[in-house]
Amino acid sequence: MNLRAFTTWKVGGPAEWFAEPGDQAELIALAAWAHGQGLALRCIGAGSNLLIADAGVPGLTLCNRRLQGSRLEAQSGLVEAEAGEPMPTLARKAARLGLSGLEWAVGIPGTVGGAVVMNAGAQGGCTADWLASVRLLDPANPGAPFELPGHELDFAYRHSRLQAESWIVLSATFQLDAGHDPTSVTALTSANLHSRTSTQPYQQPSCGSVFRNPEPQKAGQLIEALGLKGLQIGEAQVSPIHANFIVNTGQASAADIAALIQEVQGRVMASHGIALHPEVKRLGFEPGR
Ligand code: FAD
Repeated sequence: MNLRAFTTWKVGGPAEWFAEPGDQAELIALAAWAHGQGLALRCIGAGSNLLIADAGVPGLTLCNRRLQGSRLEAQSGLVEAEAGEPMPTLARKAARLGLSGLEWAVGIPGTVGGAVVMNAGAQGGCTADWLASVRLLDPANPGAPFELPGHELDFAYRHSRLQAESWIVLSATFQLDAGHDPTSVTALTSANLHSRTSTQPYQQPSCGSVFRNPEPQKAGQLIEALGLKGLQIGEAQVSPIHANFIVNTGQASAADIAALIQEVQGRVMASHGIALHPEVKRLGFEPGR
């Protein structure tokens, strides 16, 4: 199965083995099978923060897009969501019930699992602020899912300890703030989406911001100051709209994108003396995630 269609950048080669489990039981059975076969296991969500190598990915790749569903309690603010539930869907559902907390998540085109792993955030909010606990699976011990509280995930800016573990997120529980007026929560949610779609290139394939911000600096501002908007390698281009986005203008390869990332890093280092670190995760380039 070619993984191109499973990423928002629309690049990447084939998975050696591929499956889209429909529920947690199916996912656990697939993990047990991979474990029995001695295959490496990789889990992806909406592929909105992923650069997948042109040569593809060895082992079993599981895509969680079909693992959807959520249970929201209007009174208590507790929200339990499957790993594949899209964050914008969850944000909209919460807003309709007057649950505040996820208004920032509406413009993040990823899943709940990906948001937990990445500690996704925007507009002053992030996953860590609202995550109560997470249900996990260790592929090396697929018979025993377990739960961890959010405070044990070592959350930091776009970081969680899950980025260094091979654990799979099965579901997550959020504690939101109940009792708000659904109309105002919905209005703020919509306003957040509008402010993002009007300043970022949502119409072209991308993975959002490529580089972490080297606080207190903004990666986009450093890149723009060097006049790199529009810089192109193959069909990968530094977005003319937002300098921290690299867009696929047509048939870009992962190699084009990787080369452009390196070129931008080199120029920012040479001019500003600052090392830019990619936020985007790579699959198939080297051992590990
Ligand atoms: P993927 O990209 O599929 O995977 C990301 C990482 O998580 C990979 O290492 C993958 O192996 C791992 N992973 C995914 N699911 C699981 C799971 N169930 N169990 C274990 N590991 C898993 N991000 C922000 O933080 N803020 C933004 O404002 C933002 N804006 C964006 C705008 C655009 C237009 C785009 C395309 C992306 C943007 N992103 C943003 C990046 C991206 O949407 C987030 O990082 C998102 O949380 C990734 O979720 P995903 O489901 O797509 O994960």
